[in-house]
Amino acid sequence: MVTQEFSIRNTQESESEPLFIAGPCSAETEAQVLETAHELSQNKAVRFFRAGVWKPRTRPNSFEGNGEKALPWLTEVQKQYGMKVMVETATAEHVELCLKYGIDAIWIGARTTVNPFTVQEIADALKGTDIPVLVKNPINPDLKLWIGALERIAGAGITRMAAIHRGFQSYDNTVYRYAPNWDIAIELMSEMPGLPVICDPSHITGKRSMIAETAQKAMDLGMHGLMIETHPNPDAAWSDAAQQITPARLKEILDSLQIRHYNSNDPVFDNELERLRRKVDSIDEELLEVVAKRMRLIERIGIYKKENNITIFQPQRLTEIRETRTVFGNKLQLEEDFIRRLLKDLHDESIRFQTEILYRESSKEKSD
Ligand code: PEP
Ligand code: MN
Repeated sequence: MVTQEFSIRNTQESESEPLFIAGPCSAETEAQVLETAHELSQNKAVRFFRAGVWKPRTRPNSFEGNGEKALPWLTEVQKQYGMKVMVETATAEHVELCLKYGIDAIWIGARTTVNPFTVQEIADALKGTDIPVLVKNPINPDLKLWIGALERIAGAGITRMAAIHRGFQSYDNTVYRYAPNWDIAIELMSEMPGLPVICDPSHITGKRSMIAETAQKAMDLGMHGLMIETHPNPDAAWSDAAQQITPARLKEILDSLQIRHYNSNDPVFDNELERLRRKVDSIDEELLEVVAKRMRLIERIGIYKKENNITIFQPQRLTEIRETRTVFGNKLQLEEDFIRRLLKDLHDESIRFQTEILYRESSKEKSD
């Protein structure tokens, strides 16, 4: 049931279909909205029609949306094509207008999620309603801010919520428009396990050519749906032209998506997975025992350095560790970057522990 889409459910246990949301970046004209909806309504996989009515643009004098004037166009989409519609809201007034025109769901955009005052104003405007609310990640990679916005909306009594992962601003050179930082979305899924997380490959990639692979990656990670910008004539779009795709291309992408499930219904698979996991469990125990053994040696080294007034950090030792372990790890077919990160964590912990030894009461060391 579409109305159940955003219910807080334990998605790990449910095998519900992913939620696909599509529609133009902006509602440009009534004809463009209806043409897009007409084409999308023929694709049964698409459950929600999206369109921006108020557009937060980086620079003034860009097209900032048609505002209230466009809301009746979306009401037409509901009437003529039976589709549910959703709109971005950035102020309490936008929320009131969406409620007035019977918009089915709203989302909070990345530039709004960053501001707790605005999110709170939106939450206050939502009190007493039961409209589903989707919260895009803040533009900066800050998981707490994202969770905080979701908490403010939940605090207003909204029960049907979802998060939208649309990528993060980054100064690093990346092929993406907004770096996906998948780890942040994964962390959100583990911190809020009942919350559906929808991926927005359009804003992440900023370009048509990368949407299919990014959508697939989201499915591989177990995300619960996709929001994809769709326009009948993408190149002529008034906003985000480079990342919009036609409804026909959207159909191709959705049809060829490999949907993965949290659980299988196959006992043979379940048994085999369970058997392999038990092996991993015991290897993890061995791994931690070895790490603990390493720490006991580090302790002896720390005490010895302290007695001899030697610095804790020895750059040449770190270089030597890096070089030898990388060569050894390579022989074991471990990724170089992974070995580096692992060694860094071990080395950081060793420095921390030796610093603690340096400043601890010497009486504690009598037994050593
Ligand atoms: C949009 O969905 O068109 C939009 C403005 O998104 P974001 O808030 O992710 O930039
Ligand atoms: Mn857009």
